[in-house]
Amino acid sequence: MDAGKIVKVSGPLVVAENMGNARMYDMVRVSDARLLGEIIELRGNTASIQVYEETGGLGPGEPVYTTGDPLSVELGPGLIEGIFDGVQRPLDTIREQVGDYITRGVDVYPLDRERKWEFVPKAKEGDRVLPGDILGTVQETTLVEHRIMVPPYVAPGIIKEIKSGEATITDVIARLETDNGIVDLTMMQRWPIRKGRPYREKLGPHEPMITGQRIIDTFFPVAKGGTACIPGPFGSGKTVIQHQLSKWADAEIVVYIGCGERGNEMTDVLLEFPELKDPKSGEPLMKRTVLIANTSNMPVAAREASIYTGITIAEYFRDMGYSVALMADSTSRWAEALREMSGRLEEMPGEEGYPAYLGSRMAEFYERAGRTVCLGNEDKEGALTVVGAVSPPGGDLSEPVSQATLRIVKVFWGLDASLAYRRHFPAINWLLSYSLYLDNVAAYFKEKVGDQWNEMRREAMRLLQEEAELEEIVRLVGVDALSPRERLTLETAKSLREDFLHQNAMHEIDTYSSLDKQFKMIELILFYHHQAEALVDKGEIDLDLEKLFSLPVRERIARIRYAPEENLKELDEVSREIKEQIASLAGEGGEEDA
Ligand code: ADP
Repeated sequence: MDAGKIVKVSGPLVVAENMGNARMYDMVRVSDARLLGEIIELRGNTASIQVYEETGGLGPGEPVYTTGDPLSVELGPGLIEGIFDGVQRPLDTIREQVGDYITRGVDVYPLDRERKWEFVPKAKEGDRVLPGDILGTVQETTLVEHRIMVPPYVAPGIIKEIKSGEATITDVIARLETDNGIVDLTMMQRWPIRKGRPYREKLGPHEPMITGQRIIDTFFPVAKGGTACIPGPFGSGKTVIQHQLSKWADAEIVVYIGCGERGNEMTDVLLEFPELKDPKSGEPLMKRTVLIANTSNMPVAAREASIYTGITIAEYFRDMGYSVALMADSTSRWAEALREMSGRLEEMPGEEGYPAYLGSRMAEFYERAGRTVCLGNEDKEGALTVVGAVSPPGGDLSEPVSQATLRIVKVFWGLDASLAYRRHFPAINWLLSYSLYLDNVAAYFKEKVGDQWNEMRREAMRLLQEEAELEEIVRLVGVDALSPRERLTLETAKSLREDFLHQNAMHEIDTYSSLDKQFKMIELILFYHHQAEALVDKGEIDLDLEKLFSLPVRERIARIRYAPEENLKELDEVSREIKEQIASLAGEGGEEDA
């Protein structure tokens, strides 16, 4: 095939002529060093190419070869525990081959071609299978059963032959007779990263993705298959929250995309993530994780591609019928990469130099989340939940990336530097945050946890909102201006903040609360509130509020967060204590008068 010819090099952008036979988004090889690139603009014979490797030294006249294929990922056993760069090059294999600094034009396969996997067939000869159907499984790690599916691009057919036992990902494990002839299937498939993988049907959100993080599950839940964002300034606890979600969210597979900018941000991910433990099994979390990491010595273009690489891998596991959680940290760095490429393409800049299509690109990415009925005969249901971190400069949410994100995602966990400063963690601001899934998941909570769940969460939130208003009054005229009832509101709100919202990720027990425990905690805090309110409402002038607020049972309530899950039954006692202690106070009021 005729090669194209470079006419201009501008950082990661290369412009080449004589590219008439290439298509948009084709993967190309640039110069004889065979640098990996992708066509991001095509005008007549002239292609603009985003190059995923260092372009220093390249110059006009050098050749460009199109591969005729779009930039794609390899999907198959070997993904889990993998650490890949933005275009799915395996970082550890590269390091073994060429050392820490990725030299140019390294050609390594994303997935190991040598490794043998034990393939256990599930389908049998004579079965008629559709794209998406499961042919068999591979126990990829102790935590993940990899389901080998008929790829979406293969026509339905009858299984003529299916193997069993050890095979590499390129060995033929099944032969399919289709209308287009015999097709040999391996355990690996490929998929272009910029195109969502197909499914049979998208379903509405109805079930929360339980995270064990109280402020999230109770107040701002994200639905399975939903989208959420965590904007927050540096040091506000974004990383800790994403680690908590990776560990605890009830998703079977975690895909973590680290789009770091500063070198050390990424090194942290590479060092920290492999250390994390899967709390349910005690195994390393990596045994159900795929990590995409853009190291700082990689060109900006690879950062742009990384979120598509990550979400394509996540969709693949969703297609197996798994619940997948994808974390992108941070989408701001991705948007900056987009901005840089747009600038080099000399496009008309929009707000703050970001391209006008920033919003639509982000929407395309988040729209790949969802709960779906997967392809195939079996009614497999999969879910892909997407959580994007945003790092607005100076924490200012009016900037374009935060604004574009907020228009798309349904849950907003707003991190607050002042809460972090006061060491209230997780520093999610309960007055600013929201979840648009509350109505979708209300029935689930009602059925699984308790009838009063939704009402309780509303009342608790109302108390927290009232607290903010009352604090304003206290600031202006002092606490004496408040009625006893208002002072009680402040007291209960404080308890909600300190005993419920505050959650220590580093504490063995506090780090995770089941829904039952969350329900009990809120229930007891509100029970105290109602009992105390009844007492206050009796209007006894001599009621000593300080005494009411410092009843010994308050301490007991404060310690519930440290109560082991298996002892939740014992908490029933607490409501009795609340009742008794408040009743004794009521009696005492009169005696003291005498
Ligand atoms: P960011 O990623 O936003 O820069 P980090 O996630 O690294 O911030 O959090 C900064 C520090 O805040 C952590 O090292 C930890 O000490 C503290 N922290 C954050 N969240 C929690 C939490 N849920 N529980 C306890 N400590 C926390």
